[in-house]
Formats: sequence, C-alpha cells, structure tokens
Amino acid sequence: MSNAQYFDGVSARLHQVELSTADGHLHLAGPGIDWRGRLDQVRLAEPFLDAPSVLYLPGGARCEVADPQARAAVAAALAYRPGLVVRWQRHWYAALAALVLLLAVGAAVWVWVLPAAAEKIAANVPDAFDGRLGASALAGLEAKVFAPSTLSQAQVAALQAMLAEVAPASPRHRLRLLNRSAPALGPNALALPDGTIIITDQLVLAVLGKQTTFDDEMRAGLMGVLAHEVGHVQRRHSVRALARSSLTAAASAALLGDFSAVAAGIPAVLANLHYSRAMETEADLYAVDTLHRKGISTQPLAKLLDWLEESERKSIEHNLPAWMKQALPYAASHPGAYERSRRMIEAEQAAEKK
Ligand SMILES: [Zn+2]
Repeated sequence: MSNAQYFDGVSARLHQVELSTADGHLHLAGPGIDWRGRLDQVRLAEPFLDAPSVLYLPGGARCEVADPQARAAVAAALAYRPGLVVRWQRHWYAALAALVLLLAVGAAVWVWVLPAAAEKIAANVPDAFDGRLGASALAGLEAKVFAPSTLSQAQVAALQAMLAEVAPASPRHRLRLLNRSAPALGPNALALPDGTIIITDQLVLAVLGKQTTFDDEMRAGLMGVLAHEVGHVQRRHSVRALARSSLTAAASAALLGDFSAVAAGIPAVLANLHYSRAMETEADLYAVDTLHRKGISTQPLAKLLDWLEESERKSIEHNLPAWMKQALPYAASHPGAYERSRRMIEAEQAAEKK
C-alpha cells in the first residue's frame, strides 16, 4: 500500500489515492476513486532519476508515484526492464562511443555531404543568375569602393590586350576588364561571376613603379593575375561558394532549431562569402597552366604574388571597410592564398629544371 496521485485523463484535477497490487492487478482507491485493472495493461514510463514514476493506465488515465520504495515495488510488480538505450546510457563508455559516433557523422556531413550537395545545387543554378549576381556586386562596388581609373588610354589598352591573350577560346561568360581606382582595396584584382574582371590602378601602378609602359616581366606578372581571375570565372567559384555557405547556414540553423536564423542568416551568408582554399588552388593552377601554354614564364607572377601578399596584409586589412572586407569574396581577402600560389609556382619551376 503506498500513496500515489491519480489523474483521470479528462480533467486536470489531482486525486490522492492508495496504490496496491495483488493477483496481477493494480488497485487505486481514494475519495471518489476506485480503479482496478490488470497489470499487463499498465505501462511504466522510463524512470528518470528521482522524478516520480508515471504509470499510464488504459483509457488515458495516469498515476504518479513519488516514494522511492513504492516506485521500486511498482517497477518490480510490472516486471519493468529498462530499454536498450536506457541501459547503454548508464555506461560511460557507451555514452562516449555515442558521442564519438555523433561527431564523426557530423564531420562527415560537413566535409563530404554538404560540399557535394552544394555542388549539385550550384550545377542547377542557371547561368542567368551569374549575370544578376555580377551586376549587383558591381553596382555595390561602384557606389562604395571604386573611383574612375587614372591610367592612360595606352595603359588600359595594353591591359585589355593582356586579358585577351590569357582568355580561353570559349569563356563561360563574355570576359571584360574594368580599370578602377580603389584605395580601399589597395593593389588587387577581382572577378565577378558574370565575367567582369576588375584590376585596381593601385595594382597596376605598383607593378609599373616609375615606368609608364609595361615591360615583358610586368606583362607576365599581370597576365598571371588576370589568368587567376579568369580561372575563378571559368570554374564558377562564386556561385559554388555561395551555394556552399548558404547550405551550411541552413544546415546549422536546422540543427540548432532556430528557424528565424535561416532568414536572418542570408545577408550574413552573402557577407561572409569566401572562396575555399581548394578554389584558390584551382584558380592558381588554371593561371599556371595558361601561362605555360602561352610560353610565358611564371616567375614574374610568383614575384608579384609575393609582393601582393605582403602589401595585402598591410593595406587591405587596415583600409578596407569591415563590411566590404567580407562582402567581397572576389577580392583577395584570403590570407595565405598567395603564399600557396608562390609555392606551387616554385614547384613548377623546379620541375621544369629537371
Ligand atoms: Zn583568387
């Protein structure tokens, strides 16, 4: 005989009752309550630490037992056996194994499943999207970052000729080169998804130094930079990066269960868009391959990249407004990219000497 609380499943009212078991039956008795039923029709909820045991009775009624001894007696009378998961939970090694498994699955999703899904999505984004994405990015840059170029007509024409020389026979988008002054970006080049490539006056003038015309070494370095940007356009890196970061944000929001974060996250996704290391390497390889096919040395590019990396650290990180530093995936706002590129080019040269 033990105290219990009975709820009839119809009203929220609590009834104090006496609980007893005998002959395979459960009996609850109290003021106005006389419930009797077979034990095999009573279900005991999973016990949880010191919380009252909950008995589910046929017909939606419920009974709670708080006293620890009574709880044990009821469990024994019902021949309660904890489920497999409950038994596992009691062993630290099982919990640890489950945690490791969870992390492994999470990592696999992150490393393989999301990127693969993003590639699928990107492949299904129509090419017209590249045009709109490029146009809106350019409008933003023209309004906030770019000023008219101060280069001479002859210099602009020479740069156009360099792009024409490294352009592939059948580009993904019509390639066009814009010259702009961009003190905030410093010496830089960027590619928009629609095939627009922008090279800053700051980069061109730094390469020229005191000269006004380009010598062969300057041309080789600049063509390498332009070829790298063409590589980003050809491999459609912006759309692929956008698909990946959108998907990652949506997956995180779904995992964390905050639906408002999905909508709120979209501007953040756009603002944090970066090319992956793999994409930078791909663009580097594209540039090296292009220069090789044209019989142009990659050494001037290696030197230029070295110098850019140094000036990028000094210039971009300090001068670029915070929003633009992140909103510009195409800007070389990825530290280490140039170092990798340089290493790769040096490796190329070493291979050639053999
Ligand atoms: Zn790049």
